[in-house]
Amino acid sequence: MAKEYDIIVVGGGPGGYVAAIRAGQLGAKVALVEKENVGGICLNHGCIPTKTFLKSAKVYQTLKHANDYGVTTDGNISFDWSKVVARKDGVVKQLTGGVAFLLKKNGVDVYNGFGDIRSANEVIVNGESLKTKNVIIATGASAIIPPIPGVEEAYKKGIVVTSKELLNIKQYPKSILIVGGGVIGVEFATVFNSFGSKVTIIEKMEKILPTMDDEIQDAYTKTLKRSGIEVLTGAEVKSVSDHKLTYELKGQSVTVEGDLILMAVGTRANSKGLEHLGLEMDRANIKTNEYLQTNVPGIYAIGDVNGKYMLAHVASHEGMVAVNHILKKGHAKMSYDKIPSCIYGQPEIAAIGLTEREAKAKGLDYKVSKVPLAAVGKSLADGEKEGFIKLIVDNKYKEVLGAHIYAYNATELISEYSVAMEAEATAYEIAAAIHPHPTLSELSLEAALGAIDKPIHI
Ligand code: NAD
Repeated sequence: MAKEYDIIVVGGGPGGYVAAIRAGQLGAKVALVEKENVGGICLNHGCIPTKTFLKSAKVYQTLKHANDYGVTTDGNISFDWSKVVARKDGVVKQLTGGVAFLLKKNGVDVYNGFGDIRSANEVIVNGESLKTKNVIIATGASAIIPPIPGVEEAYKKGIVVTSKELLNIKQYPKSILIVGGGVIGVEFATVFNSFGSKVTIIEKMEKILPTMDDEIQDAYTKTLKRSGIEVLTGAEVKSVSDHKLTYELKGQSVTVEGDLILMAVGTRANSKGLEHLGLEMDRANIKTNEYLQTNVPGIYAIGDVNGKYMLAHVASHEGMVAVNHILKKGHAKMSYDKIPSCIYGQPEIAAIGLTEREAKAKGLDYKVSKVPLAAVGKSLADGEKEGFIKLIVDNKYKEVLGAHIYAYNATELISEYSVAMEAEATAYEIAAAIHPHPTLSELSLEAALGAIDKPIHI
């Protein structure tokens, strides 16, 4: 007899596995179908592996500058790439093993295989038919290989890579050309530049990180250039021929060479093969409402596959909202106007809410409070002077509209604003909250004071 479930989740990334665990916690009979390891891109080929590389890069750089901290070395600092990769593999294994354990502990049946979704009531895995009342599609997205002449051929030869392959290269590259100055592009630029590769970013827009606040874009571009990375913007890649790449910039055609060419030009939803379900689509993305329902009753779509925000934390949150809706636990809806986003490098970037560009375009009456990192003692003690916080509040009530942080550990600071915005807090509440000293979080306090009147430490 076919097994019967309340919910079958297809795809075990941070959207799917969180949804499955939540459903298990709420007492549902739930199955998770995954064709590779649980953890998705995030744990296996994305967020976590890149953070381990960045940590190794940071240790390497810190040792190289040990003198600045009064620590001497014999001057012979080197790295072993195979060990950097092995450390990454160890962290990934520990985390994916942890997720597998949590799924088991919460009574989730995990099926290792391709989930062929026949309808809202049937999924076939490895020839076995599983019956269900609901399906959650959480199949993620994959890196785009753009239709630029020569790219596909060079990809087949392993010269063009996506971030997935780049995480497992055996031979450390002396030079790397990075097509796309988005999140993935700048993260890998920092890693490979830190270990000594010649790095070139080729971005087609006028600025890198197109969705970020202008001041962050400008500051980050300067930082990347100062660290030795070549940043070309407004550059259109015309063709690739093995290690050679030709781009056009201001009417000039230029050919450059690299050991590797990273394609980091965005991702496309993994929705192929789902056409027969009659799902309403927006290009490759499955359309969903605020409860993550698709137009087909009983089918939900969460994470990258709905194309709203390609972020692990959004996928996880959507997973919780979808499961709560299916199991009728509350009425929480998904809202997309307070999504924090983080970019990892040296320093980091974290942002939430409106950029100043957006506040202007909306014709809002707003105020900006900007505080440099040097205003905070902890940053000087840490030897991390570069950066600032930019808080945008509405002029009347001083309600937080957006926060943009450019600093080491910025990604740990942004959650204060997630809570503030969720609670519709103003700069008055942030300033009234005692921030511990000495911490980087004093930046938030100073910015709030600046939004109301004046910061103390400038
Ligand atoms: P992205 O959308 O962040 O950036 C792609 C960049 O490539 C853009 O700046 C775009 O203008 C540029 N581009 C597109 N076509 C080009 C071309 N032909 N030539 C030159 N430039 C071109 O995409 P990504 O960096 O590939 O990341 C993929 C997804 O993964 C994103 O949605 C991102 O949010 C997510 N991600 C998030 C994080 C994080 O939150 N820290 C880290 C990695 C990836």
